[in-house]
Amino acid sequence: MSKRALLTGITGQDGAYLSQFLLGKGYEVFGVIRRSSHRGVEDHRLRWLGVADKVTLLDGDMGDLSSLVRIVKEVQPQEIYNLAAQSFVASSWRQPIHTGNITAIGVTNILEAMRAEKPDARFYQASSSEMYGLIQQDMQTEKTPFYPRSPYAVAKLYGHWITVNYRESFGFHASSGILFNHESPLRGIEFVTRKVSHAVARIKLGKQNELRLGNIDAKRDWGHARDYVQMMWMMLQQDKPDDYVVATGRTTTVRDMCRIAFDYIGMDMGKHVVIDPAFYRPAEVEVLLGDPTKAREKLGWVPKTSLEEMIREMVDADLERVRTEPAL
Ligand code: NDP
Ligand code: GDP
Repeated sequence: MSKRALLTGITGQDGAYLSQFLLGKGYEVFGVIRRSSHRGVEDHRLRWLGVADKVTLLDGDMGDLSSLVRIVKEVQPQEIYNLAAQSFVASSWRQPIHTGNITAIGVTNILEAMRAEKPDARFYQASSSEMYGLIQQDMQTEKTPFYPRSPYAVAKLYGHWITVNYRESFGFHASSGILFNHESPLRGIEFVTRKVSHAVARIKLGKQNELRLGNIDAKRDWGHARDYVQMMWMMLQQDKPDDYVVATGRTTTVRDMCRIAFDYIGMDMGKHVVIDPAFYRPAEVEVLLGDPTKAREKLGWVPKTSLEEMIREMVDADLERVRTEPAL
């Protein structure tokens, strides 16, 4: 019989790629979808990857424990991947309480649903490199102390430790992936890589001239979501639950990432990029650089896609979208 996986956040970037990956491994895939007045468009990422008809979506919300209990009871999954979150750092200052309710307490809700209905399921928590914030070591490992710098990162830290705590308190097979930034053509439009690839496509096609950005000196360790979801699955196949950094080991400024995109379409970023203080953050994470040694040595995981390849893929996808969907 095929294994059943339950994904929260299935309609997000990682949920779509993980669904595709698990279906390829023969899993039955179930996902939590929150009620929206925009029904019919919220599965656009699953459709883009051609998997929307192959997954089962169930109504629920991370803030509603009863819905999660009902779903876990109904699905009886062997594996639960908790990907749902208010995931945008900048919004977390504007919606700090909502971010805490969903990104932090939401983790306890899904863990409690599992404790009530399927305590032997294996659990994955989507932890974040944002937890390192004001970095305490040049290269961050599983042992680097955390110093969160946004309401989002504070909430993720709670989610991380409650996962560790349920592992230690109840013997749960619960693991946390400390994932560094990962992107793709399915990344939300407000994140900086996608904001850049989308703007570059529109500039190339004469639909816009200016790209307004904030702190372009910030540095991130960027990988491809397609590579990173594989690691989520690998973690749950181990006999023992554990926490892993998932990163490339290379860090790049926003400026240089942007230059890669402009160079690709043969245009000069200096003629289009405008610095706008509106995009500066109340507290910034200046640099992140992950050390993926444990993932490589214990699980044999290595990222396959370079930053250059990924940015080219994102620009190509946005060129295609802007050409075929003129409203974009
Ligand atoms: P996205 O923002 O693309 O997806 C978030 C998902 O969470 C969406 O499916 C969204 O649903 C869902 N969601 C939000 N609020 C609720 C709620 N109240 N109830 C149910 N579902 C909800 O994020 P990513 O796919 O990029 O990231 C996946 C996870 O990994 C997130 O937890 C993120 O914080 C974390 N992470 C991501 C990193 C990255 O670089 N991408 C790095 C490290 C961690 P809807 O479609 O309805 O909005
Ligand atoms: P984050 O690492 O999860 O916050 O991912 P983002 O893609 O949102 O931001 C990455 C970095 O890019 C942060 O240091 C931002 O301050 C910086 N940045 C600079 N300009 C922008 C912008 O216009 N939008 C976003 N989202 N980030 C920007």
